[in-house]
Amino acid sequence: MEPRPWINAIAPYVPGQPAATRDGSMASNESTFPVSRRVADAVNAVLDGVSEYPDPLANGLREALAALHDVDPDQILVGNGSDELVYLLVLTYAGHGGRVLCAKPSYRIDEVSAAVVGADVAYVPLVDWRHDLVAMATVPADVAFVVNPHNPTGTTCAPDEIASFVDTARARLSVVDEAYIDFADIPEEATAIPLARRGDAVVLRTFSKVFGLAGARVGYLVGSADLVATLRKVRAPFSVSSFAQAAAVAGLADRDHYHRARTETVARRAELVRLLVDRGFEVVPSQANFVLARCEGEAALVAHLAASGISVRPGSALGVPGAIRVSVPSAEGLRLLAGALPDADQVPTRRRTP
Ligand SMILES: *Cc1c(COP(=O)(O)O)cnc(C)c1O
Repeated sequence: MEPRPWINAIAPYVPGQPAATRDGSMASNESTFPVSRRVADAVNAVLDGVSEYPDPLANGLREALAALHDVDPDQILVGNGSDELVYLLVLTYAGHGGRVLCAKPSYRIDEVSAAVVGADVAYVPLVDWRHDLVAMATVPADVAFVVNPHNPTGTTCAPDEIASFVDTARARLSVVDEAYIDFADIPEEATAIPLARRGDAVVLRTFSKVFGLAGARVGYLVGSADLVATLRKVRAPFSVSSFAQAAAVAGLADRDHYHRARTETVARRAELVRLLVDRGFEVVPSQANFVLARCEGEAALVAHLAASGISVRPGSALGVPGAIRVSVPSAEGLRLLAGALPDADQVPTRRRTP
């Protein structure tokens, strides 16, 4: 039985490999902080009601998010991870032969979702590891993705650059994916939420990174009430479990946990950068919870680290051959990495000369 013709052409998403220990896992940009007590209690409390379907619209969570972002609750849609929302946006606005616009390299899910619905992808190469928003604005498309901070590079676009992109873009819909915005210097200034509040753009957020709930699968979007109403018709009504909703509500309320995770991750990112530079890597400046480090002999290095119990993401799997992407590890993970990385004068990690 043959699938629809474009399905065979999909290059499947390849997830990062966990290492044998949590401390050694630096491939998937997960939080290194233990789950908040409030989240654990909230999830346990849901068990009693598990025979019932979840609230299809996650109203409790939507109201908390609406207050946080100063928008109407009808401007928020909660999804099974923000990845589900990417699929929904692409299906709804670019399906059946539409066109998706991405940077190159881009977040893999953006291009995979386009391939799934039979949409074309137009690519605009990064310049100095950053989105070339001026060039992207000139490309006609149905849905444009700007990932800010970007994955896999960690670079950011300034808020005025994003605002003028949204203003001038030939794409019908601009989506700003802010999965890593909490690790930016000043998230409140970097965010495109003001554009989403006015309905001029869609902003994607997730509970998978700073909130440490990647396994719960919760993300959300902020956009116009019209767009949210349209997407509600398309989505699977019960895609966000009651456990996930409870975890997200409790996680959002635990501001101490949030601030600690944010502050410590940013501080440890600086230590990670120092270590990598010290060992001869060229490191792309990052505002996310990972860094992209360029090196020679990527495959040998990835294998060498794996033999030391450390998993990182090979750049070639992310469209950046000759690099590794390293998630900000725990303090213990950083010690492991320092012990495992070869010295600067050794072959696999020598700085790539231009
Ligand atoms: C990790 C990540 C997400 C989060 O996806 P979820 O489905 O919410 O776990 C979204 N966008 C980008 C660019 C990411 O790297």
